[in-house]
Amino acid sequence: MSTPRSTRMNLSAGLASVIVAAALVGLKLWAFGQTGALSVAASLADSAMDLMVSLGAMAAILYAAKPADEDHAFGHSSAEDLAALGQSIFIAIAAGAIGWGAVNRLLAPARPRWPTNPSAWWSWAPPSP
Ligand SMILES: [Zn+2]
Repeated sequence: MSTPRSTRMNLSAGLASVIVAAALVGLKLWAFGQTGALSVAASLADSAMDLMVSLGAMAAILYAAKPADEDHAFGHSSAEDLAALGQSIFIAIAAGAIGWGAVNRLLAPARPRWPTNPSAWWSWAPPSP
């Protein structure tokens, strides 16, 4: 069971996480607009996903703060646990995809090139020679 104090702390941390992620997205959008650098675009995509995960966590924290009711006699704090599990799975899948892409590029016979087609940035296959 979460106490009112820990609920306040969780809400503060969740809000800070959303604010920081939103600030990073804004700054990286500006930087990408100024430079057009693909490395900034990749970092922007990372921060945008951070923002989405932070918003999901904030929603879970708000839901978890609800008091116990007829449907949930022990409260709603499991929502935070489920959100954390979802975030962990998301991070594990992203890590696996990045690792797979890195291994493929390392083993590719041709020199890797950054795809010029933006939709291909999300493909994990090595570039064709
Ligand atoms: Zn309920």
